Amino acid sequence: MTLKIQSAPNVAPILRVDTVNLEYRTHHRVVRATHDVSFDVFTADRFVLLGPSGCGKSSLLKAIGGFLPPISGSIKLAGETVTQPGPDRLMVFQEFDQLPPWKTVLENVMFPLLASGKARRKEARERAEYFLDKVGLTAFADAYPHTQSGGMKQRVAIARALAMEPKVLLMDEPFAALDALTRRKMQEELLALWDEVRFTLLFVTHSIEEALVVGSRILLLSPHPGRVRAEINSHQFGISDFGGSAFQQTAQRIHHLLFDDADSAIAPPLSAAVKPRFKVVGG
Ligand code: ADP
Ligand code: MG
Repeated sequence: MTLKIQSAPNVAPILRVDTVNLEYRTHHRVVRATHDVSFDVFTADRFVLLGPSGCGKSSLLKAIGGFLPPISGSIKLAGETVTQPGPDRLMVFQEFDQLPPWKTVLENVMFPLLASGKARRKEARERAEYFLDKVGLTAFADAYPHTQSGGMKQRVAIARALAMEPKVLLMDEPFAALDALTRRKMQEELLALWDEVRFTLLFVTHSIEEALVVGSRILLLSPHPGRVRAEINSHQFGISDFGGSAFQQTAQRIHHLLFDDADSAIAPPLSAAVKPRFKVVGG
């Protein structure tokens, strides 16, 4: 008899954001950051929140991180309502100063493992070394962050977060402050890392091209306050498709979905500048 092992389809989303409204209240006024935003993220998704500056992307990550309670709607991680920060949701930011400068690269990656009690020293070290190897920084384990380039610091921050094996890795425009070539390289490395580790990624960007390269699914958010405009599949695009015609067509389509009835607050994809007669087709 042959035993057939079939994995049950895992249809429950790991992260469920349901009709979430976010606001900031000051003495003088109330700023609505998002309006009725809903989306589901499944295990091993590379889910991208895409929209212009000020549409509430960072606010959504803060809310998912447990730092900003929704005024209405709910956020559930693995079925549990998010009410506070936790080590199952770790964030990588745009800023290069997210690493304590007095700790070496290795100590930086070990620190959350030790501080959270997730691992003892020996295991923390092994995990940290494993993930430093994955981001290509083994040779720099004993270096201090100030000796590292922006790209290297972001690699440390990624290794540090992944070493904690979060249920979802939150990345808020992590490559936005890097030069264009380093940014492209980091996108490529992130995809290679995902291929190997298959973590669940929630990635924020205001770049259409970055969303298409990094994401398997993209949620398009309107300008302020952010509302869901559309959700599109983008798993067919990888780094090598960048600039290809299908890629550019989709980028154009996204641009129209985002801005057709709004003032454009972000630059159109490159093709619009270099190919002014580009014709948008549906699909
Ligand atoms: P994004 O990340 O898409 O650029 P944000 O989530 O940072 O957008 O901001 C969404 C809206 O909320 C903006 O109008 C912004 O000015 C406002 N906002 C963000 N943080 C605060 C805050 N701490 N206090 C008041 N308003 C804020
Ligand atoms: Mg932001």
